[in-house]
Amino acid sequence: MKRSKQTRDEIEAKQRKAEEWRRTLAQRAAERQRLRDYKIALARDEVAVVTSQLAPSNSYSIPDFVERGTYRPEPSVCKDCGLAEVWTPLQQKWWYETAKGDVFTKAVRCRACRTRARARKSAARRVHLEGLARKKPSAT
Ligand SMILES: [Zn+2]
Repeated sequence: MKRSKQTRDEIEAKQRKAEEWRRTLAQRAAERQRLRDYKIALARDEVAVVTSQLAPSNSYSIPDFVERGTYRPEPSVCKDCGLAEVWTPLQQKWWYETAKGDVFTKAVRCRACRTRARARKSAARRVHLEGLARKKPSAT
């Protein structure tokens, strides 16, 4: 009786060990796959998307880069000066994950025109605020 219980315990222990081993192998395979995907992405000049960092969107459709899981170099033509540029994966990552840009927006201006547009906007805001300050009736 004792002997058969011992045998059963041994078999169960072996099975547990085998199960653990299978799990470890699966984990390692998953790690290798992730590493391979990462290397492929690097070789292709792509950068991984961290979806938790993206700005929330109400749209039901999923942008290409989210579906793919990586940012790819994207050709873009400036809408102001027509300069053809490459929107790099790191610039995209910054725009979507750090600046929380809408996931359906893309670069439409080159760097120089972007800087000019920003300066124009802040100048317009300043003029507007100064105008408001002038219109404000004085306190006394
Ligand atoms: Zn431009």
